Amino acid sequence: MRITMIGSGYVGLVSGACFADFGHDVTCVDLNEQKISALKNGQIPIFEPGLEALVSENAKAGRLTFTTDLAPAVASAEVVFIGVGTPSRRGDGHADLSYVYAAAADIARAVTGFTVVVTKSTVPVGTGDEVERIIRETNPSADVVVVSNPEFLREGAAIEDFKKPDRIVIGLEDERAREVMSDVYRPLYLNQAPLMFTGRRTAELIKYAGNAFLAMKITFINEMADLCERTGANVQDVARGIGLDGRIGSKFLNAGPGYGGSCFPKDTLALVKTGQDYDAPLRLVEATVEVNDRRKRAMGRKIITAMGGNVRGKTIGILGLTFKPNTDDMRDAPSIAIVQALQDAGAKIRAFDPEGIEMAKQVINNIEYADDAYGVANGADGLVLVTEWSAFRGLDLKRLRAAMNGDTFVDLRNVYRQKEAEAAGFSYTSIGRPTGADQSVGTIAAE
Ligand code: NAD
Repeated sequence: MRITMIGSGYVGLVSGACFADFGHDVTCVDLNEQKISALKNGQIPIFEPGLEALVSENAKAGRLTFTTDLAPAVASAEVVFIGVGTPSRRGDGHADLSYVYAAAADIARAVTGFTVVVTKSTVPVGTGDEVERIIRETNPSADVVVVSNPEFLREGAAIEDFKKPDRIVIGLEDERAREVMSDVYRPLYLNQAPLMFTGRRTAELIKYAGNAFLAMKITFINEMADLCERTGANVQDVARGIGLDGRIGSKFLNAGPGYGGSCFPKDTLALVKTGQDYDAPLRLVEATVEVNDRRKRAMGRKIITAMGGNVRGKTIGILGLTFKPNTDDMRDAPSIAIVQALQDAGAKIRAFDPEGIEMAKQVINNIEYADDAYGVANGADGLVLVTEWSAFRGLDLKRLRAAMNGDTFVDLRNVYRQKEAEAAGFSYTSIGRPTGADQSVGTIAAE
């Protein structure tokens, strides 16, 4: 099939490359000329494991091309995906739909023949109706069906997620799109990915409900971690103890510094706004947003307390800046609020991230960068593990401690154990685990 993808960012580029890998003929369009010329030269503008090879193989095979020229790419396509950004709108937190609507108008002007227009961007319930209205108003003779097909891939595991999804949700109001969308995803039948057809509004809401639920789960265990700290319980054991209950499940129960990233913060906020607009307040989601916002900055206070209450003039080393490992994405990363809180208290920051430094430079100021974890530790008064990259999971703690001036180690991802950190000479603080007690994860008699 001939597919055009409007927007070649984390979602558009991964989806486009995977569709091409399925054998479809794909054109990825983007307004950003730098991005497109880099892609034409075989350079990948983002870090995503496996993406470079996938793009290059499919580009070489002639199934994947890149352009800034939207009109011919849309005119020749049977299916046009909209994968542009939907960031938080400044001021009120609603999803900013201006990129989606601009793409819809551009598509309307260029479209020829029967075409299925698919919104893959995360958009509030009812946006498909508006996209359809814009297309009909801009070009009354356009023969177009508008479909919702939200994307559930995770950065860092995006290709695997796209090719082996838990489900594919397709929301449509016109049956003519059903066969076309089945053909688009036919290669995934082999992987037995369930294709779920719903109404368009339902599909739009499924995406937000999913993200809000996961954000709520993380926030729940984060609050439990606070309670564990005050009561001498161990949050990792609590998480395991509840996660083994099949109704709860063990994923997304790792306590940490609060969720961040390009999706959860903006999507939870947008869902809250939608609930308010429809007079159906989503109080659990409202609380989730509020608790998580407060938590990121509270992590700064936790670090300052661990360092004796005063960090003015001290050097604090930060391990990991991206919102999670295996991505270079810095959007709404907890590190931004943490670094800001420490800088506000007068600390100097030195940091290392395996892939995120270039993106971090665009959003955080006045950081000195090191080449690795040991360079970060060199002469530092304290060390904070913020993102659990695998490069930080097996560090030589004795070597780190020997390089440092102070002895504080704050592990916001519970990667290490108290005993081993203390044996290396650290004063060690983690999340939701009792100090001085055994921090081994609970075992089960039957194991
Ligand atoms: P992104 O910012 O990485 O990419 C968006 C791209 O669209 C940019 O390159 C931009 O230049 C381009 N663009 C904007 N307007 C355009 C236009 N009119 N024509 C052509 N190109 C245009 O964003 P992303 O992370 O890929 O997210 C895209 C959408 O997918 C968002 O709605 C997001 O919520 C959703 N989503 C993201 C993820 C994720 O992990 N990043 C996962 C699931 C869903």
